[in-house]
Amino acid sequence: MFRDMTCGEPRQADSGKIITLSGWVHRRRDHGGLTFIDLRDYSGLMQVVFNEDTARDAHTLAGDLRSEWVVQIKGSVQERRAGAENPDLPTGSVELIATGLTVLNRSETPPFEIEDDLNVADETRLRYRFVDLRRPRMYKNLKLRHDVIQSTRNYMVGQGFLEIETPILLKSTPEGARDYVVPSRVHPGTFYALPQSPQQLKQLLMVSGVDRYFQFAHCFRDEDLRADRQPEHTQIDLEMSFVEQEDVLQVLEGLYTTMVAQTRPDLQVPTPFPRMTYAEAIERYATDKPDIRFGMEVSRLTDVVANSGFGVFESVVAGGGAIRAIVAEGCADYTRRQTDELIEFVKSSGAQGLIPIHISASVASLNDVTVDDIRSPIRNHVSLDKLKEIATTAGAGPGDLILIIAGPDGVVNTAISNLRGEMGRRLDLADPNVFNFVFVVDFPLFEWDEDRNGWAAMHHVFTSPRQQDVGLLDTNPGAALGQLYDLVLNGVELGSGSIRIIDRKVQEKVFELIGHSAEQVDQRFGQLLRAFEYGAPPHGGMGLGLDRIVMLLAGEDNIREVIAFPKTQAAVDPLFDAPGTITDEQLEELSITVVDSDG
Ligand code: ASP
Repeated sequence: MFRDMTCGEPRQADSGKIITLSGWVHRRRDHGGLTFIDLRDYSGLMQVVFNEDTARDAHTLAGDLRSEWVVQIKGSVQERRAGAENPDLPTGSVELIATGLTVLNRSETPPFEIEDDLNVADETRLRYRFVDLRRPRMYKNLKLRHDVIQSTRNYMVGQGFLEIETPILLKSTPEGARDYVVPSRVHPGTFYALPQSPQQLKQLLMVSGVDRYFQFAHCFRDEDLRADRQPEHTQIDLEMSFVEQEDVLQVLEGLYTTMVAQTRPDLQVPTPFPRMTYAEAIERYATDKPDIRFGMEVSRLTDVVANSGFGVFESVVAGGGAIRAIVAEGCADYTRRQTDELIEFVKSSGAQGLIPIHISASVASLNDVTVDDIRSPIRNHVSLDKLKEIATTAGAGPGDLILIIAGPDGVVNTAISNLRGEMGRRLDLADPNVFNFVFVVDFPLFEWDEDRNGWAAMHHVFTSPRQQDVGLLDTNPGAALGQLYDLVLNGVELGSGSIRIIDRKVQEKVFELIGHSAEQVDQRFGQLLRAFEYGAPPHGGMGLGLDRIVMLLAGEDNIREVIAFPKTQAAVDPLFDAPGTITDEQLEELSITVVDSDG
């Protein structure tokens, strides 16, 4: 037997026990006749003492130990002498007085120390991921991920869901990204595609009468990576039969409140989760991913400044653009340097610039404000009355800073909502201990795709319009709203779902509007449409990012921190050196010729 306890276990009550521990040498300190070792495993650290006088052989051997060697140590647990306790360690009141030491395995000098607060390049961390994962924080994250999975599974099973696996090797199941493809050896020149999501498969399961399905689904999307994207991610994927939108939302609300209560009971989760329409989210927060933990809502100044006399505003309005603002309460004394930083910030979000208006705190109310109480680059271009009207519309008063962005609608919304997030961070407005979930509902069914100059599905082609909007598909598709919902948590989108189309005519109309030819439809969706001819129940579901919710529960800001073996920003695994080349024999078997892109 290698051990009687794990390293983090011994307590005062164990004093006097003779035990064996196994683990990694975390640190060694020599003090003449005494050598101290911190012995580490997943559960924590235990101090071990080798005394030259009482255990000469073990002490000599301990002198050779190096970081990360794997050892087994026998000894007796003893209370530390007064003053030598370490209150930071759960085992800090005791130590193991060693009588025997066995080296189980040696280690190269590790590439970095096993400490939580380390500044190591991501590339190095991932190349030595097996060492990186020894850090307590990483183990905690893996454990939390495990807990989230168990909590989800228990909840879903309790709600009558069946856990069903679907294939990884299949055919393109478009979610709007590029496919990862796998060549077939048996059928030269043909390819499988890895699922971007099991969308069609779960809908087929509903046609099969499964009623309620869920799965932890690996989804593969070949897209340009952003901070919280990976080439493969895991979704909590679910689908339900004979449901309306509200039925699905109820299950999700139960799932997430239970999950947070079981894994982070210290967090507050306000319930019921608000249902906010897409239009309201854009109007109040300029984004469909609102962080509702704090106010600072976004106002619309377009009408107010349409004839303000200020050229920039007037030309934006004439061009059909928008002028929107937020108010940073009590920030009137922001310096030029601080507002310059904010200008750089909004530029990085795509805006041309930012117009600040500082209203001095020295006046009692807006009525008393004179031009001298205002600091702004537009002060001399806009009348005092107009400035006051802007302040009233934006909801600003003395002591406040109004931040205005003008430009094309989409650009303004992106920049001002990012700026709202940034100001929320700077002013510490968002309580990290509150998890504010919100369902955003009633999304438009389509969005205009500038590149293709045509309609594209906002979610995917199977999303049903609202019953009352079906007629709009013929008359005004852009105005049609879908039975389509997102779950958003503290400004982060956790996932999307919808009630699906089961009416053949509606489905055909959607394909037509998106501009899919009959051939494309058959190629991509033929199997599902065929199945729908054999009796499809009304159904709907959702796909929710597992990595993201674990990231938020862990308080991390990158999903790499909660994935055991993630890839870098460049979609590379530095540990396996993947992607890599394959042998000529493999290429030949697959009937593939690699063309050198340089020539
Ligand atoms: N397949 C969808 C997605 O990955 C989720 C769903 O509609 O259920 O976003």
